[in-house]
Amino acid sequence: MNLTITLLGTGSPMPHPDRAGPATLISAGFGLGAEHYLVDAGRGVLMRMAAVGLGAPNLTAVLITHLHSDHLTDLNDVITTRWVMTLPPTLPTPLTIVGPVGTRAVVDHILASLGPDIAYRIAHHEDLDQPPLVDVIEVIDGPINLPGNVSIRCAPTDHKPVEPSVGYRFDHTGEDGTASVVAAGDTVPCTGLDDLCAGADALVHTVIRKDIVANIPLQRMQDTLDYHSSPEEAANTAQRAGVGTLVLTHYVPPIPTGTAGDDWRALAAAHFGGIIELGDDLHRVEINTTLSPGA
Ligand SMILES: [Zn+2]
Repeated sequence: MNLTITLLGTGSPMPHPDRAGPATLISAGFGLGAEHYLVDAGRGVLMRMAAVGLGAPNLTAVLITHLHSDHLTDLNDVITTRWVMTLPPTLPTPLTIVGPVGTRAVVDHILASLGPDIAYRIAHHEDLDQPPLVDVIEVIDGPINLPGNVSIRCAPTDHKPVEPSVGYRFDHTGEDGTASVVAAGDTVPCTGLDDLCAGADALVHTVIRKDIVANIPLQRMQDTLDYHSSPEEAANTAQRAGVGTLVLTHYVPPIPTGTAGDDWRALAAAHFGGIIELGDDLHRVEINTTLSPGA
């Protein structure tokens, strides 16, 4: 058993020609039976999913870490495109959207904003006779009951004043052991994330270069310092938890496309002894099973 991490979008609120908004795909299994969990739905997420041969109907669930716009600006696209691209004879299935308390209200407002579009399409297409189906699950802490072969739980993170915010852990268990991946979202180091990461195989963490941002003479940029982690802080979190692989994403400022980001890697490597992954959009990381004792 294994889990595949695909960095669909490694950007931030700042539009960039090569880096889509924050979105990470966690996939379990292969082919038609695979399960695909989308963590956050930033700018351009469905373009990046198309690049790996997936569409909105392929998603098992969408999990939102917090309600900052850059992490969910394309949720409306996921909802609409899943609705209109689920074609007969496939029956429409609800899009499961998991998120912190407040997510239901946001989704209700998205659906309200889509009201004219929904009405046009139902009137125009004889085989579309109901609006998009969504199933919103608001979470705070603990296990999340979803169908499928991946156990998912969440824990509160610290992205204040953005409250609440959560990270997610995915455990995929098979006969030969378990692969586990944590998606932290935006957060400073905190006990909730530490607990979630304990013993995980991989941690996907959003980061900003505080050493660079601190020198940008714009208060709007300086304001971002106190609620994100630096590569060093993410590395310390991974090291404390005994994580094997640290995956950095959400690069502020953007890493020049096609370069290795060696300076970012070096900052993390000074605090973390495991594998460090970073890269362009669509960078993939395979997390293989940790053999259970005696297996
Ligand atoms: Zn945020």
